[in-house]
Amino acid sequence: MPEEVKKKRLTDVGPHDYHDYLPPMVKKNYGKWAYHEIMDSGTMVHVAENGDKLYTVRVGSPRLVSGSFVRDLCDIADKYCGGYLRFTTRNSAEFLFEDEKNIVPLKKDLEKLGLNIGGIGNNVANIVHTQGWVHCHTSASDASGVVKSVMDELYEYFVEEKLPSKVRVAFACCLNMCGSVGSSDIAIVGTHRRPPKINQERLLNLCEIPSTIASCPTNSVRPDVTADGKQTVRVVQETCVFCGSCYTVCPAMPIADPLTDGVSIWVGGKVSNARTKPTFSKLVIPFIPNEPPRWPKVTEAVKTIINAYKEGGRPGERVSEWVDRIGWPKFFKITGFEFTKYHVDDFRLAESMMNYSAYARL
Ligand code: SF4
Ligand code: SF4
Repeated sequence: MPEEVKKKRLTDVGPHDYHDYLPPMVKKNYGKWAYHEIMDSGTMVHVAENGDKLYTVRVGSPRLVSGSFVRDLCDIADKYCGGYLRFTTRNSAEFLFEDEKNIVPLKKDLEKLGLNIGGIGNNVANIVHTQGWVHCHTSASDASGVVKSVMDELYEYFVEEKLPSKVRVAFACCLNMCGSVGSSDIAIVGTHRRPPKINQERLLNLCEIPSTIASCPTNSVRPDVTADGKQTVRVVQETCVFCGSCYTVCPAMPIADPLTDGVSIWVGGKVSNARTKPTFSKLVIPFIPNEPPRWPKVTEAVKTIINAYKEGGRPGERVSEWVDRIGWPKFFKITGFEFTKYHVDDFRLAESMMNYSAYARL
């Protein structure tokens, strides 16, 4: 840890000021960067107005990492980067340094650890993902297993620039979408397909009735009374959207079901304001069953989308822009995905309720 950070009194209350953790070069040129250039698919350089240069080498990470993995990264950061290291929003690790001569030995050390260098430029970046079966009670699917299987297939697009533009892939293991799936070019979303099952005996002992009712975004959890007159809840099956919020508040309402859970695939989200406004991803495959350990149908679907985009996208065109240009009917035709009733968005308040751009709406 840098000396100036050690000297400050650190507490465990609230986040630390991120300025404390900026590399000196970044702090010095804060707000004064002139441009950046991509040197190769794993290396870039930022140039400041005064000519200062900051080099970045990016490696993928599996996101759920061990202590020894982090220690290995820290050793390399100590050796080449003055002890500074950053993780990107897509869980890549980035090494930032000022001396260009460090690029080659740094990469050699990273390769010795078996780390993959890439994800910068017109590539598939590291897949951002959520907890999955490892760590979250609401998950409809695994996260790490699906992401590993998909990324094994997309490896060539991580280490080499072969695509019309950058492609962001994301995975969330339920509709709460802790990963940025709504705004990624390709998104895989864990999907439950049945309402929670209530264990009345446990519910009476474990759960607070008002907060359980309040947890439901569609008002599907309603007050009820048991045969012997005790306060409980029931679920209106027709309006439940299988989000799992009630299970988070009340552990007596499990929603996971090994027979009916799986994933859906979404396409065309982006956060960027460049050329076109930010977009939400749209449903293209409503359901694929869970197929651990290698998830063949999911990997095949993602590869089909990538291949179609690689063939048809124009240079610089994001997936959403490519689909907008060719039209969704053609997208379904060239990918071979079936168009079903589940693709018809009939949420009548969407236009007035959903925020479609990065601009604040008051
Ligand atoms: S997306 Fe859902 S299941 Fe996955 S970590 Fe978030 S809340 Fe849990
Ligand atoms: S799963 Fe979601 S929509 Fe269904 S009852 Fe629970 S909170 Fe409501």
